[in-house]
Amino acid sequence: MKAVALVEAGEARIVETRAPQKRPGELLLKVEMVGLCGTDLNSFRGKNPLISYPRILGHEIAATVLEGSTAIPAGMRVTVSPYSSCGTCASCRRQRFNACQGNQTLGVQRDGALAEWIAVPEEKVYPSHLSLKELCLVEPLTVGFHSVARGRVTKDDIVAVFGCGGVGLGAIAGSAFRGARTIAIDLDDTKLDTARAAGATDLIHSGREDFRTRLRELTNGHGPDVIIEAIGLPDTFRAAVEEVAFTGRVVYIGYAKEPIAYETKLFVQKELDVLGSRNALPPDFREVIAMLERGHFPVDRAISAIISMEETPAMLAQWSASPASFTKIIVEVGR
Ligand SMILES: [Zn+2]
Ligand SMILES: [Zn+2]
Repeated sequence: MKAVALVEAGEARIVETRAPQKRPGELLLKVEMVGLCGTDLNSFRGKNPLISYPRILGHEIAATVLEGSTAIPAGMRVTVSPYSSCGTCASCRRQRFNACQGNQTLGVQRDGALAEWIAVPEEKVYPSHLSLKELCLVEPLTVGFHSVARGRVTKDDIVAVFGCGGVGLGAIAGSAFRGARTIAIDLDDTKLDTARAAGATDLIHSGREDFRTRLRELTNGHGPDVIIEAIGLPDTFRAAVEEVAFTGRVVYIGYAKEPIAYETKLFVQKELDVLGSRNALPPDFREVIAMLERGHFPVDRAISAIISMEETPAMLAQWSASPASFTKIIVEVGR
């Protein structure tokens, strides 16, 4: 079968590879569409420390069941959780499989779904009547939804999300889906417009206005109850702790590339919950699917381009040359 593989950093190719064999407990899926995100771009550019080459890409999956089970029969449309878990590490023993120490994500540490067929364990498969495009968006949105779950967001909270890229947009949609007043902060008008369409109630353009002043204005001087950091810069990491309300929750999803100095008295004085958030759990997948089924997300605005498998190697090179020109690229596998 055909697949798209990174043979090494900077070189993607269409390869011919062996079709998968379904093992006990697995389903055989015909891959319909696969979304590409910043992780794939980093893998292409050799900037993803977790990847090894050669590697078949693909972890944002829309597929049709070819050989199913009683619960998920042939013909159903599905998406897939691309994570694995060892079952024995400290995270797994606490049922927090998303943070498994030995996690292997499809398309990163294991060959992914950018191929004609894949075989995956049944418990990783989520059936739904969503469109194929929507199914591709489930996994990337779960990452933001998980951060909202980590922040224990309720309808009574005011939540601020730093950064409206793919992950931040998921956090905004997740926070809005729980009924919280949701403030989106970014430097890009287009991203802020999409954030509004995803449920943000207030927008702050941090290039044109002082976001710290605006946050206080919007919260009666208290600061947001929850701040979700989805950028990964030292300034925004620190601002989250500085601007969150007393006894608030700070959730970090971004990865900062350097050590950050903090005024640690804020942790103690405000009695903060400072939380990390990584990947997603089954309830996050179910919540995203429920949100999309209600039509609460601007699906078409979130997708920059739809291409064929053959076009993928050239598109990765183009994306790498100008990273800001695309956010989400979808590969139509059967095209
Ligand atoms: Zn992704
Ligand atoms: Zn584990």
